[in-house]
Amino acid sequence: MSLPANVGDAGPLGLLGGTFDPIHLGHLRLAEEAREALGLEKVRLIPAGQPPHRGKPGSTAEDRLAMARLAAAGNPALEVDDSEVREPRPSYTVPTLERLRAEVGPQRPLVLILGADAFAGLPGWHRWEALFELAHIAVANRPGHSPHERRWPATLSPELDEACRGRLNRAPVKLDTPAGKVIPFDMTPLAISASLVRDLLHAGASARYLLPDSVLDYIGLHHLYR
Ligand code: ATP
Repeated sequence: MSLPANVGDAGPLGLLGGTFDPIHLGHLRLAEEAREALGLEKVRLIPAGQPPHRGKPGSTAEDRLAMARLAAAGNPALEVDDSEVREPRPSYTVPTLERLRAEVGPQRPLVLILGADAFAGLPGWHRWEALFELAHIAVANRPGHSPHERRWPATLSPELDEACRGRLNRAPVKLDTPAGKVIPFDMTPLAISASLVRDLLHAGASARYLLPDSVLDYIGLHHLYR
């Protein structure tokens, strides 16, 4: 007999939120390498509707969602979640995780995937300390930001260091609990950012091979980032 998904016996679910303005190969490698390093069943890409921590994105939420869908197409391990885009209010991660936790049940491991730059900014997030109760947090290195120095996360901020106390587990790690671990893991360092892609496009330069061709075609067709 197959059990309903919310009984909570399914494999770990990775969650990768972002402005995705636009989605690029740094995001996709982050999802792929997190999936492998942590044994995730799937990774859900969650484009932010109105990101609270930054200025207005260079493209609309609908366009960013469409580009995430194109980027995920053909990879059965990737899902795209449009819930934040559909919300009329700013996208905060804690309410999104609360909704997902209710959706998957209390047992299924949830893993919030962050680049080390995003992790360093966590204390600025709305109700950030609740994140640790709702999901594990996997932290990938990103050029200029390393979660692999010996003193990390003490190098970030005292409150983050304190919040991580007793939670740090270096990958590989068995996700035998639903939430609560902080897991730094290695990914191929890729100095790709959405700002770099936007800057290149704005300057009329080529951004090819920094993002999927399908996304670049969409950008061209819709005259984005001119
Ligand atoms: P921008 O340049 O506009 O600030 P970004 O490239 O950082 O955008 P976001 O959508 O803000 O992209 O990032 C979403 C998540 O992906 C964050 O957790 C971020 O740390 C991570 N991320 C983005 N690019 C990389 C990369 N090249 N390597 C590792 N993590 C990345």
